[in-house]
This record gives sequence, structure tokens and C-alpha cells, in this order.
Amino acid sequence: MSAEKQKRTELKDIGEFGLIDVLQQDVKLYQESTKKGIGDDAAVIDASSEQTVVSTDMLVEGIHFDLSYMPLKHLGYKAIAVNVSDIAAMNAVPRQVTVSIALSNRFSKEAVEELYKGINIACENYKVDLVGGDTTSSRSGLVISVTAIGTAKEENLAYRSGAKPGEILCVTGDLGGAYMGLQLLEREKQVYMSNPQAQPELKDQEYVVGRQLRPEARTDMVHEFKEYGIKPTSMIDISDGLASEVMHICKNSEVGAVLYEEKFPVAEETLKAAMDFHIPSSTVVLNGGEDYELLFTIKQEDYEKVKHNPNISFIGYILEKEKGTQLITKGKQVVPLQAQGWTHFKQSEDE
Ligand code: ADP
Ligand code: MG
Repeated sequence: MSAEKQKRTELKDIGEFGLIDVLQQDVKLYQESTKKGIGDDAAVIDASSEQTVVSTDMLVEGIHFDLSYMPLKHLGYKAIAVNVSDIAAMNAVPRQVTVSIALSNRFSKEAVEELYKGINIACENYKVDLVGGDTTSSRSGLVISVTAIGTAKEENLAYRSGAKPGEILCVTGDLGGAYMGLQLLEREKQVYMSNPQAQPELKDQEYVVGRQLRPEARTDMVHEFKEYGIKPTSMIDISDGLASEVMHICKNSEVGAVLYEEKFPVAEETLKAAMDFHIPSSTVVLNGGEDYELLFTIKQEDYEKVKHNPNISFIGYILEKEKGTQLITKGKQVVPLQAQGWTHFKQSEDE
């Protein structure tokens, strides 16, 4: 958080072309299908015999991130991860990305280098190629728009619309951590603003803070599904909290669902942080968001193949549409999913 006075090169001194030189200097390519990356009027990708999957997400300073606690390197990583997550949620393999940025003169060349360090690390982790983008100035703040391109065999694509009554609702990993990380960071920011000498109290909280600052896309699951020889009948990534994602699947698939609160996967650290903030942990799971885990459905007969996978929790079932979306609480009460702390909890209207 401290504004360390390191070397600062103004963007106006290097110009747009100088800046593009800077941001492409460490770019590496991993995909055979990338025939031309950065450096021409357009990138060239060898169209495969598979389906092409394309997704774009825009991140706006002050709406989606706060640079007072989000280091630029993490932001670059996260911008790639959240887009790759959308490709994984189609059960597709990410291949290329483009990154467009709008920058105000508040940012220096060194700041852009930090951002691209994170972008390049993410590209390496997910084996995606940065093949282009656009660079422009902004009056205030930073905007990053990433487009991710992936491929999948047509028969492997998992849409939101494929869930059928009787199928099992599954989630990967654990939920609610990213939201609690955000609460901790916001609290530390308030403390810091009222007393800049205060030391941040984030010890033992690395896990939830990490879930917020450096989320991972579950591209591993795309490979695991292939190994198990199963295809999720529907899938979505959890960017907005479990409740809204379940409802997206139900709406698109024209089905209902029942969720069991006792089955929700929550990390110990998330539980502790939720207790600290006096928020029920299942409210965080249902409405928190930004975990970037996968929510998917499988056929009953596929359960045997995945039941021992430690990455997967089985949290409920798909019902007929008429049954609606229900939550069975730990106290065995049946409550409609929509009513769960929806309005008072959602902290901003961003999507
Ligand atoms: P044009 O004038 O044709 O739009 P640019 O000068 O904007 O070309 O970009 C030159 C090259 O640099 C192109 O290959 C473009 O895709 C790439 N590029 C521009 N901005 C970015 C960026 N922010 N990230 C990655 N590549 C970029
Ligand atoms: Mg351009």
C-alpha cells in the first residue's frame, strides 16, 4: 500500500508504440494453433476441426477492483484467470487471449510492466497465448478487457441449458473464500485510511485474501472430465455466488433444484472469517461470488466415476421446474433459494 518511490517512466515519454513494445517484451507462445501473435494488424489462429469458444470480460477500476489493495500484478493474473474460467465453464480448452487496456496518465511504464507480469504468469500457467489487444488512454482509471478463445469438440461442450431432473448438482473446490477475502481487505483499507501507520492484520488470512486477489480458473476439471470419460450435462462458473449460478442453470435448463446447506464446501479459514464478521457462512457461499469454481450437473450413472474426487462436492439435485429452487437448511427447513439474504447482501450491482 505504501507509495514507494521507485523509478517512474511517464507513458507520454515512450508513446503508444513504445508502450506496446514494453508490453509484448516477455510474451511467450504455447499453442501450435497461434500462427501470428502480436505485431500485425490482426492475429492469425489456425482454425481447428473443433468448435471455437469465445468469451470477453471487462474489468473497470473502482467497479471491479480497487488498486489500493489489489497489486497490479495480481490484477493482470486475475483478468486472465476470470476469462479462462468462462472457457473452462464450457468444458473447452483455452488457447488464446487478447488484452485491451485504457490507462490514465496516473500509470507509468513500470506500472504497465507489473500488470503484464501478472498477465504473462497467468498465460504460462494456463498455457494460453497473448496474441493481441489494444491500448488507449483514459481520463481516469484503468480498464482492462480480455477476450479468451478456446476449443472443444462439439459433443463435449457443456451449456447452461443441459440439466435434467434427477441429475446431481456438483461444485468444485470450496466457496465463499473470495468474498471473505474482500471483506478483510476492505476492513484493512478503512483502518489504513484512518491511520496510515496501522499495520495490516492479515496474518492467518492468506487463504481468503488469496482467493480474492489471485483466483484460479478450474481448467484442471476439463482434463479430469475427459479422463473420467464423462461430460457434465450443464456447467457454469461461479462468479456471482452459488445461488445466482444455480438459478442461471435452472432458468436456462427449465428445471428446478434442491440444495443441501450441510453439503456446502467451505474452507476452515472462510468459516473463521465469516464468524469474525458475524455473517452466516452459507450466506457467503450463496451470495458471495468471485470464487471462480465450477458448478455443474452430472447424470446419476456417472456418480460412481467421480464420487472419490476430492475436488468435487455433491450439493443437491435437479428437480422438475414446478418444484422451484429450494434450500434445505442444516435445521432441515425448506426455504426458497431466492429469499436467502439476496438484497441486503449483494454489495454492488456489478456483473
Ligand atoms: P492497430 O493500429 O492496427 O490497431 P496497434 O498499434 O494498436 O495496431 O497494435 C499493434 C500490435 O500490438 C497488434 O498486434 C495488437 O494486437 C498488439 N497490441 C496492442 N495493444 C495491446 C495490448 N494492450 N496487449 C497486447 N497486445 C496489444
Ligand atoms: Mg489498435
